[in-house]
Amino acid sequence: MKNTDVLIIGAGPGGYRAAEYAAKNGLQVVIVEQDEVGGTCLNRGCIPTKTYVHSSSFAEAVERQQQVVSQLRSGVEGILAAPGITLVRGKASFSGAHRVRCIGADGQVDDEISASHIVIATGSSAKMPPIADISDPRVVTSTGLLAMKEQPRRLAIIGAGVIGMEFASVFQRFGTEVTVIEFLKECLPMMDSDIAKRLRKLLEKRGIMFRMKKAVQQLADIDADTILIATGRKPHTEGLNLQAAGIATDERGFITVDDNMKVTTVPYPVYAIGDVNGRQLLAHAAEMQAIRAVNHILGKQDGIRFDIMPAAIFTSPEAACVGPTEDQLKEQGIAYECRKSFWRANGKALAMGETEGMLKLFVTAPSEGKDGGTVLGCHTYGAHAADIVQEVSVLMCLNTTISQLRDMVHIHPTLSEILLSAVSL
Ligand code: FAD
Repeated sequence: MKNTDVLIIGAGPGGYRAAEYAAKNGLQVVIVEQDEVGGTCLNRGCIPTKTYVHSSSFAEAVERQQQVVSQLRSGVEGILAAPGITLVRGKASFSGAHRVRCIGADGQVDDEISASHIVIATGSSAKMPPIADISDPRVVTSTGLLAMKEQPRRLAIIGAGVIGMEFASVFQRFGTEVTVIEFLKECLPMMDSDIAKRLRKLLEKRGIMFRMKKAVQQLADIDADTILIATGRKPHTEGLNLQAAGIATDERGFITVDDNMKVTTVPYPVYAIGDVNGRQLLAHAAEMQAIRAVNHILGKQDGIRFDIMPAAIFTSPEAACVGPTEDQLKEQGIAYECRKSFWRANGKALAMGETEGMLKLFVTAPSEGKDGGTVLGCHTYGAHAADIVQEVSVLMCLNTTISQLRDMVHIHPTLSEILLSAVSL
């Protein structure tokens, strides 16, 4: 039986970042992957979808997807070939508290590995809703849609969350007739409802049909040649044999962890990072959780702020957010001031012909902050909204006051001046 310092299950953004960082810090690492390295993000998620966003036609997107994914995949293979890291191809399952068995493609046990620390980074997969005729042959998940070689003529999307909205925007641009069906009254529930509504109305004007507050009972009623199910994600724990290590999951199947990503249901050092712990289902969250878990193994402190987690929706135009929505601030009784600014008033946006967009910056109420208060959050949509929210996240991490922000020089003409306009006196 092999023995190692750290055994990682899954080579997605959580797993490969943990492997790289642990090895750079002198630990011996074994990482087990049952599929291609890079995980959902690189092979079936962030990267292929963004290749679609930046392609002008479906045919171009299909072609570019392969090139971009394989180029990045060789980068990850390079990371995992570094000294101190052993990549094992196979499916891992627990055989005891500190032990994992690896089953190769032929179904045979290839290896049993014991480790002082185990990191579970097995990600998530599409969750199917309880609809009787869900096995309808027109049904695809995001993975299935990205694998299609023929452009759907009429696409129905069930679920107006991030994945549903990104695909709706991209396929409408490719010329597919798109209908989005959503149970809730507004799309993108994690976004400020005002911003979400404006974005939905804009996409509606461009031709996407939205059927809101509609619970789908059966797919047979849906008039489309392809139906994308985008109703959420479920943790990928199948076949891991968590019971052998005594690891329990919550009612939704996610592995519960503490702030060091250490599994709460066992006393020994097992960690769960990324989508599988259900905290924040984002690639950058998985990577930062990987750093936190390895720091805990190394006994190192870090200053990662998991409460400041920016997120973006890559529709055209983009939407992005960090911090609470206006409704949440109200519910929590937090005194705030909302500062707004608009793409149509920004020189660069006008020059780009991208005049649609609004930014809402929530700042502490003037009476709360000495020096003009600090930023509580930002919700926005408009061209390159994600880049603006990234700047806001940095300001939040540094506790920058509004008057300090006013003193910071921004290049003219840039979209970042939209942020400056929001705080101008
Ligand atoms: P994953 O990336 O899912 O990797 C887990 C790996 O573990 C997989 O390679 C899997 O094969 C392997 N594995 C599982 N079980 C075993 C086992 N028993 N043995 C061995 N290996 C195993 N996030 C963003 O931040 N930005 C985006 O733009 C974005 N776009 C997305 C678009 C789509 C369509 C989807 C589906 C997701 C998107 N995401 C995006 C989410 C992002 O992909 C995930 O948050 C991220 O991949 C999670 O990383 P992870 O390391 O936790 O898991």
